[in-house]
Amino acid sequence: MSTHCQSCGACCASYRVSFYWAESDAHPDGSVPAELTTPISPYRIAMRGTESTPVRCVALTGRVGESVGCSIYAQRSSTCRDFTAGDDRCAEARQKHGLPPLPADVASAG
Ligand code: SF4
Ligand code: SF4
Repeated sequence: MSTHCQSCGACCASYRVSFYWAESDAHPDGSVPAELTTPISPYRIAMRGTESTPVRCVALTGRVGESVGCSIYAQRSSTCRDFTAGDDRCAEARQKHGLPPLPADVASAG
């Protein structure tokens, strides 16, 4: 998690975070704790708390815009790992939470 992300967390409280079910530890090769997920289709699951509004991932700790953490950071899904700090979706999430976009030169994995 980048320094910017540690005082943000807006994306974890803005979007439905879904991924293929086998990324959960219900599959031998999966890592995401299955009990923190909920099924959304026959093959896809979502982080609990992100499938309804207001959105807030169950694994997000702390206060958005102040100090946050991910309680399953090492086990998080590809959807979380692939989210890019500094892109348009990052800026949109931050705007939803009253935060300005990151500086233009920031583009690291969130
Ligand atoms: S990727 Fe963007 S929206 Fe997500 S925590 Fe980092 S700065 Fe915030
Ligand atoms: S699992 Fe962690 S990184 Fe992914 S949405 Fe939840 S709090 Fe954010």
